[in-house]
Amino acid sequence: MSSRERLYLYDTTLRDGAQTNGVDFTLSDKFAIAKMLDDLGIDYVEGGYPGANPIDTQLFAEDRSFTATLTAFGMTRRPGRSASNDPGLAALLEARADAVCFVAKAWDYHVRVALETTPEENLTAIRDSVRAAKRRGREVLLDCEHFFDGYKADPQFALACAEAAYEEGARWIVLCDTNGGTLPHEVEQIVGDVARRIPGDHIGIHAHNDTEQAVANSFAAVRAGARQVQGSLNGLGERCGNANLVSIIPTLKLKSEFARRFDIAVSDAQLAKLAHVSHALDEMLNRAPNRHAPYVGESAFATKAGIHASAILKEPATYEHVPPQAIGNRRKLLISDQGGRSNVLAELDRIGINVDKEDARIARLLDEVKRREAIGYAYEAADASFELLARRILERVPSYFKVEKFDVNIEQRDNAVGERVTVSLAVVKVKVGDETLISAAEGNGPVNALDLALRKDLGKYQGYIKGLELTDYRVRILNSGTQAVTRVLIESRDETGERWTTVGVSPNIIDASFQALMDSIVYKLVKSGAPA
Ligand SMILES: [Zn+2]
Repeated sequence: MSSRERLYLYDTTLRDGAQTNGVDFTLSDKFAIAKMLDDLGIDYVEGGYPGANPIDTQLFAEDRSFTATLTAFGMTRRPGRSASNDPGLAALLEARADAVCFVAKAWDYHVRVALETTPEENLTAIRDSVRAAKRRGREVLLDCEHFFDGYKADPQFALACAEAAYEEGARWIVLCDTNGGTLPHEVEQIVGDVARRIPGDHIGIHAHNDTEQAVANSFAAVRAGARQVQGSLNGLGERCGNANLVSIIPTLKLKSEFARRFDIAVSDAQLAKLAHVSHALDEMLNRAPNRHAPYVGESAFATKAGIHASAILKEPATYEHVPPQAIGNRRKLLISDQGGRSNVLAELDRIGINVDKEDARIARLLDEVKRREAIGYAYEAADASFELLARRILERVPSYFKVEKFDVNIEQRDNAVGERVTVSLAVVKVKVGDETLISAAEGNGPVNALDLALRKDLGKYQGYIKGLELTDYRVRILNSGTQAVTRVLIESRDETGERWTTVGVSPNIIDASFQALMDSIVYKLVKSGAPA
């Protein structure tokens, strides 16, 4: 007899995630993220603090058609006030939210020191607030702040806070590891204790990642009976972040321990969009995606050694714990000095270059990759440069334009208001067909100036590179033998949202940057099908 249980997902990207250093969501960002979460099949989307934050107030006021339960977050009534005479609580209950999540102290030490009130008053505030929200027809959640630390200090009091809300009819009692320092075996034991008093299908877990175990802590809680998991996209959140839903969801869907016991609202088709969702959030935050992110990172299914690569092609399960396409990722075989023919063939196949397996040019390509990697090129990090190299050796790249010369100047001087400034000026002479074009541009640095000048006027190709944009620039000094060389990796993207990385290597940083910039532009022209 199989009795499957429902497990609920609660996202706090818009509330806890908004606390991340350097993250500042606009109203339209928040809407876009809420929409993404809803499309992904998340049960609860926590929108923020209506009444306390103007953007959040607006978010709840807008018309919307979400399947997800849009949840408002806020404090229980203040100590010493009645529920009907607390403006903060009134504003929270005023919001057009489907559910209200109250946060309350569950650690006696915090009640005394931070709230400066008595344990009894804390319990009454919880009861009053839950009752008031229930009366307004809201689904109610109680976030028990510092629950695990509170439980270790005074289990009776921590449990009393949880039970007070449950008895008043709160749908979920969420146990929060607010400081993020609790370990998985402690979480499992404490949640197990709570589940003897409150049914597990009313218990949630809210874990922070301060010991890098927020995901493990969430699963420990589920094993002990909790049936709601809170987290955020890409683990966004203050300090070290919240439990990462992008890692939790595929584990729940693809690992049999969970998959055979639990249903979540995320379908297989929705799961296949996960990598895209994760990268879209990075895009919105203007961050380069973490290539080593579990499940969704570019390197999550990348294999380096040639012997593994040939085994993978025969039988993917030999080196992959789950099929990459299940989360919308893809297998990647790295072209590297350890790699062999099978890597190159598989990569050509993926790029869509059809070539006979016995073609002599494949050996030439492999030799060229090895020769270049020996002097510092890194093709496993620069797939667009690899693709261009392959296309060039297989004679399929038109010669679009030629940079006849370029010149970069750096000048330090006083500006009009007497401040000392350093400016760079680049001049580029390009030949496109019979046309010679000269462009100049000023930039905040020599590479920036060169990039701007290069892309300023490419004659008939200008239309193809309009949407091209550099998103990341990384420099490393390598010591190869007696000579130090510079490796530059440039990440670009275009109007379609596609990202690619190119590489340049030279003893001169400007020259290395120039190579990577050129590859990026030519790659874009190839990709856009620009005519020769
Ligand atoms: Zn939190």
